[in-house]
Amino acid sequence: MILSNVPQKHCLSNEGKMVPLVNINQKELEKIMVIFAHPDDAEGNCGGTTAKWVREGKVVYYLVLTNGDKGSWDLSMTSEKLAQIREKEQEAAAKVLGVSKVIFLGIPDGELEVSQSLRKEIARLIRLHQPSFIFTHDPWKPHQIHPDHRATGFLALDAAVAARDHLYYPDQLPQGLKPCRVKECYLFGTESPDFWVDISECIELKLQAVRCHQSQGLASREVQERIKNRALAVGKIKGFLYAEAFKRIVM
Ligand SMILES: [Zn+2]
Repeated sequence: MILSNVPQKHCLSNEGKMVPLVNINQKELEKIMVIFAHPDDAEGNCGGTTAKWVREGKVVYYLVLTNGDKGSWDLSMTSEKLAQIREKEQEAAAKVLGVSKVIFLGIPDGELEVSQSLRKEIARLIRLHQPSFIFTHDPWKPHQIHPDHRATGFLALDAAVAARDHLYYPDQLPQGLKPCRVKECYLFGTESPDFWVDISECIELKLQAVRCHQSQGLASREVQERIKNRALAVGKIKGFLYAEAFKRIVM
């Protein structure tokens, strides 16, 4: 997508001030789609990278597969109420990072299955939005106990393959959709990282975005320290102050 005469865009600085985005005019914008299981999965795993790439002029879309309606230990909480709260929290966190669009599939929390129908729907959304890069859960992470995290990783990767080839779901093509060649997929929550992103300049934005998920207790000082220390430890491996790590798959 070549954009011309794009209006000046701004993003939040680490200090919370609005600063102009550089190099955005007359530039081919690359799109990133972050596909994740629950509201809050993206910020902790790739919030710093998202903020950094938005600053560089890339467009980031979120695709949230479940509504997170089981993520509470509060006995007075209902699933209906929780889903509403978490959608609002996700919207707020996405705004902090400069994410352009949040798509909610609204599947009940914990009930995600690797199905043909879901793969097809995600492939349709990939074809519709044409991302160059996809971020998602590493479905091969050993001892990953959350079924939604495993399912999301498989669904996102399977859908990326299907979206690429025109003979998958040909009924989508007369609807004006085109096959989409995703260049690379990045897996987060991985135990075999091979790609590190220096997020030193965006660590405060990442923490601010994580704090939006108050219903999950992510605004507490203890959690914030833990996230910061994790980024510090990951950064140390590659000589960065703070970093996020991924397994990179060239498609
Ligand atoms: Zn999750």
